Amino acid sequence: MAAVVALVVAFCVVAGLPSEAWAGRVGDGKPAAPPSPGLKRVLDYIEGQLDRYDKDLSELVAFPSVSALPDHTPHVLAAADWVAARLRRAGLQGVEILPTNGSHPVVYGEWLSVGTAAPTVLLYGHYDVQPVDPLDEWESPPFEVSKRGGYYYGRGVDDDKGGLLEAVQAVEAWLQAEGSLPVNVKVMLEGEEEVMSPHLPAFLRAHAARLAADVVLSADGGQPGPEVGGISLGLRGVVGMQVHVETAGTDMHSGMKGGSVPNANHVLAALVAGLRNANGGVAVEGFYDDVAPLTDEDRADVAEYHFDADQEKESLGLYGFTGEKEYGVLEQRWFRPTLDVVGMWGGFTGEGIKTVIPRAAHAKISCRLVPAQTPEGVLAKVSEHIARHCPAHARCRVIPMGGSCHPWTNPRRTAANDAAAAVHRTVSAKEPIYLRDGASIPALTFFQQELGLAVTKFGWGLSERIHAPNERLRADMYGKGRRAWALILEELARRQAEAAGVREEL
Ligand SMILES: [Zn+2]
Repeated sequence: MAAVVALVVAFCVVAGLPSEAWAGRVGDGKPAAPPSPGLKRVLDYIEGQLDRYDKDLSELVAFPSVSALPDHTPHVLAAADWVAARLRRAGLQGVEILPTNGSHPVVYGEWLSVGTAAPTVLLYGHYDVQPVDPLDEWESPPFEVSKRGGYYYGRGVDDDKGGLLEAVQAVEAWLQAEGSLPVNVKVMLEGEEEVMSPHLPAFLRAHAARLAADVVLSADGGQPGPEVGGISLGLRGVVGMQVHVETAGTDMHSGMKGGSVPNANHVLAALVAGLRNANGGVAVEGFYDDVAPLTDEDRADVAEYHFDADQEKESLGLYGFTGEKEYGVLEQRWFRPTLDVVGMWGGFTGEGIKTVIPRAAHAKISCRLVPAQTPEGVLAKVSEHIARHCPAHARCRVIPMGGSCHPWTNPRRTAANDAAAAVHRTVSAKEPIYLRDGASIPALTFFQQELGLAVTKFGWGLSERIHAPNERLRADMYGKGRRAWALILEELARRQAEAAGVREEL
């Protein structure tokens, strides 16, 4: 691949075409520099600690730090204590548990002894996890790490306890093996990512000076495959809402009144059916107004991903794909917004039957957003659509529900993306691919919005069954991630020094 790109670049230069667009597709095309003697010692140190890294994962996963469930707040706080102690043990300084305006704190630590000679890197991750239900679908207890068949199983082994540990273990390896880090490091681990980080924007504003950095590396997020690395160029945003339909002041007897009075379930069902158009898209007026068309480069990224629709169909037990007919599966996930009804209820839903005409019915809706769409704008459009289509014999309301965040986009070429691409070339011996992700990590948008910081996603799990029963992490990715973190710290420092050298020569 690198050779092909080099040829294309050479051709463009010869033909007098601008070559940047082509060169930019793969960063600067360089692998990470050969490891320094210091980095070699760091990697050797890591090899001697493997049992301890397993223990790290077991201990941290044992805290049921489920941020969505208020009963679990003591476990979230206990997990924060463990993480703070672990940062201290790694050799980080100024370790503190910082309160937010919510009930789950941020754990912070730093090591800033390189000074201005090297960049300052803010490492982000989260120690909270998703709920575990349905519990009976777990093959081993969710809060006890079980290692079998080359995988760790347990809630948070990947998202994001394993992810954050890889970064912390790499920082520790530098500090223990070399007594220093190649860059200044600030570590910021939050406890509310799984509930959309509602207090993070205010926290970032309040601690802007302490968190000042050149770049954020996120330990949350994953890789496209075990053998190939990915650089993420964007995540979708999200907004949630609830639709309430009322048709009467009371439930009614379906025999005595049925046929002559409106049924709230039927009204809601018609409204929901009207949210889709015949083309498989969203029928809300103006929903796609701000959505940019795909570029040739977007389509090239999709093609390079080599998405296997049949394999996914098989693994998910799908009977078929749906959606907008003119877009492929991956194109929809990366570049198109969604509107999904994620819950619906009304009338009698218990066992057996009750002959009742419900007076009210409800639906929860989640929309994923793409660049230029805003949570407020989409909420307004859906609300207007529901109001316009609500029949005269009903009253319909839409209220915002849950957190929301704007989409996150990341330019292809940033210093940290190029450094990450170089590390991918070295650890995978393959050209990384550039991709997007249909999911959302609100913090990445908040770093951009509140601190003006570029973020590079540098998580190393494969996102297998995250948020679902039997979440798992490939054991080799836990090791690969840790080594990659050790590499990127040196790579960022080397690239900045090189850039400074070039500037001096000029
Ligand atoms: Zn996560």
